[in-house]
Amino acid sequence: AAGNGATKPQRASLEDKKSMLDKVDCFIFDCDGVIWRGDSVIEGVPETLDMLLQGKQLIFVTNNSTKSRAGYLKKFTGLGLNVEAAEIYSSSYAAAAYLESIQFAKEKKVYVVGEVGIEEELDLKGISHIGGPADGDKKVELTPGMLLEHDHDVGAVVVGFDRNINYYKIQMATLCIRENPGCLFIATNTDAVTHLTDAQEWAGNGSMVGAIKGSTKREPIVVGKPAEFMLENIATQFGLQRSQICMVGDRLDTDILFGKNGGLATILCLSGVTTEEQLLSPDNSIHPDCYMDSLAALLEAKQP
Ligand code: PLP
Ligand code: CA
Repeated sequence: AAGNGATKPQRASLEDKKSMLDKVDCFIFDCDGVIWRGDSVIEGVPETLDMLLQGKQLIFVTNNSTKSRAGYLKKFTGLGLNVEAAEIYSSSYAAAAYLESIQFAKEKKVYVVGEVGIEEELDLKGISHIGGPADGDKKVELTPGMLLEHDHDVGAVVVGFDRNINYYKIQMATLCIRENPGCLFIATNTDAVTHLTDAQEWAGNGSMVGAIKGSTKREPIVVGKPAEFMLENIATQFGLQRSQICMVGDRLDTDILFGKNGGLATILCLSGVTTEEQLLSPDNSIHPDCYMDSLAALLEAKQP
């Protein structure tokens, strides 16, 4: 089932699954929609991960920046999944790793629009930060002549999912980006919507990033999927060739695009946000190599 743009994506056959298991040494899994949905592990996933652990490197990548890798390790453990810290890549970590990779000056600070995940990862890299949850209840009382002072040492604004975003934070981020020379604008991810509850789609970090884009007329540096940044990190750290890696995700414009841009094999699982109808629609041009109902469908390819 070749997945180039011209052919219709195919449901994975037993042969497809077996050949995937033969040629792939490393699976990169998206988390929400593939491993878990909200706070519940998806049926059959623990058994499938146990099977794959016999010989495969497994990596877990999430665009949700609200937790740090340590936070996710707790989540995996709580769900009864045996994962190691070094196998987890969150977009909160990607933001901190990106700043480290460009040798972000130690005397500069980050203004955080986002939650504790970003702060914890910045702390681990020794990068100073302000904003974040501490600014969650700040109000702007507009009076004549009122001037909001911003910190001139802010050299980067990191925007992640923030359930307490407010006008104060938007104005602070805007002032830093517009007025501090060379100030970077970094987005952990730009997911349009997320599935915080099963009942509906909720505005994702694309809405928070969009607010700051709108006021600054600047394009952010995106560090989460589909950007290359984490893939480069993963391939280097684990000494992997891209031809040995398969990306498994539930979302076309982040996970599958991430895999395809990076030259990886790709599998879409229907256990998350994408329906078979959306996948097969003529409007969709992002085609995975194959698709399955859920990760558990790989179990039937188990080698004796
Ligand atoms: N961002 C937020 C705020 C989320 O709640 C989620 C999923 O729950 C995501 C991003 C997407 O996460 P993932 O990349 O693991 O699917
Ligand atoms: Ca997902």
